[in-house]
Amino acid sequence: MAQKIVVIGAGVIGASAAYHLAQAGCDVTVVDAGMGRATDASFGWINASFFADDAHFALRAAGIAAYQNMSQQIDIPVQTPGSLVWEDEGDAFDTQLARLHAVGATVSELDRAAFQKLEPHVAHAPDRIFHFADECVADSGALAVGVLAAACGYGAQVISGEQVVEIVEVAGKIIGVQTTLGWLAADQVLIAAGTGTENLLAAFDVALPMLTRPGVMLRTRPIAPLIQHVLASPTQEVRQLPNGALLAPAAAGHQGDTSDTISGTPAGLADVAVDRLRTMLPGHDITWDRIWLANRPMPQDGLPAVGAVGPTGLYAATMHSGITLAALMGDLICTEMTQGITNRSASLLGPYRPRRFGAT
Ligand SMILES: Cc1cc2nc3c(=O)[nH]c(=O)nc-3n(C[C@H](O)[C@H](O)[C@H](O)COP(=O)(O)OP(=O)(O)OC[C@H]3O[C@@H](n4cnc5c(N)ncnc54)[C@H](O)[C@@H]3O)c2cc1C
Repeated sequence: MAQKIVVIGAGVIGASAAYHLAQAGCDVTVVDAGMGRATDASFGWINASFFADDAHFALRAAGIAAYQNMSQQIDIPVQTPGSLVWEDEGDAFDTQLARLHAVGATVSELDRAAFQKLEPHVAHAPDRIFHFADECVADSGALAVGVLAAACGYGAQVISGEQVVEIVEVAGKIIGVQTTLGWLAADQVLIAAGTGTENLLAAFDVALPMLTRPGVMLRTRPIAPLIQHVLASPTQEVRQLPNGALLAPAAAGHQGDTSDTISGTPAGLADVAVDRLRTMLPGHDITWDRIWLANRPMPQDGLPAVGAVGPTGLYAATMHSGITLAALMGDLICTEMTQGITNRSASLLGPYRPRRFGAT
């Protein structure tokens, strides 16, 4: 008999896990409350240039590589434009370059002239730039939708607009979930509920403290093709979508953004970001037409929380940089839920177990 697995959450993490689990022959049901996904508000930058330490770099680099595997199986909206990063300047640039070399990053250093050849429309070209040629971008919302459709191709079923209100265990073992509209039996439950993960685990006295990390993303009206790469300057990150629109976080350095409130109105923040974009790309009529707000799902130490937790049959996965990590995480979550911990999963996920917050 196929294992019955309920996946709570149809963001990019739940979708990828559902895909791998269904492909592995599990009987998968995805339940999503439709409460607003971080996935839809994402910048969609798949990168390893932002990392906390060696293990985090290795995880993110494996995350990029996992998209190559996934793209051989499914048609996914992921491209590899590479990124040009000059958030660090002066001594900080050299320090970061040494760190990147130490972890084995695929990076080259460009000077101003080389940068201008790659991005001739960018004003105020920096003196020194990191070029990460293998970094990717995703249309995050479409990625989750496409991967979930592929899961359905392997027999998964999706229930949208229904919230899981309780995960039920008997004698220390998961037996199913109670939703707003009924009961779903399960041998195992995966909580991939983004910012909702902490609440669902609290019922089992499992602590997975999450930070409040709101983010604002803006999109401009389409303009002529101007930039080829993901650009990350000290004040602004931006990339251009296939239709010509610019996509940009309102906060500079948004991956390391530590604000727990949005100060000012989202529209005001978007106006300020648009001013920075006009400075970066002068002579173009740049105006925003859409803003997204969402809380980044971020465990208290900023790192992913992934692993079996609480009663037998319960597994949780929540993280920031979920777009970077989704293809890999789906694979690893599937491995651990169907086969248990392997050498590969232990080496990649070892530092990120939820038990570091005191959970059992
Ligand atoms: C502004 C911003 C910019 C970002 N930029 C990047 C980036 O450039 N690169 C990158 O890698 N990452 C980025 N991220 C982070 C990335 O978007 C997230 O890490 C990722 O989308 C998390 O996916 P998820 O599936 O875990 O959660 P979500 O996408 O939030 O999905 C969780 C789902 O669970 C459902 N849910 C919750 N509780 C329940 C319940 N009780 N019952 C049923 N369903 C439930 C919700 O309805 C939701 O659909 C960004 C995030 C933000 C907000």
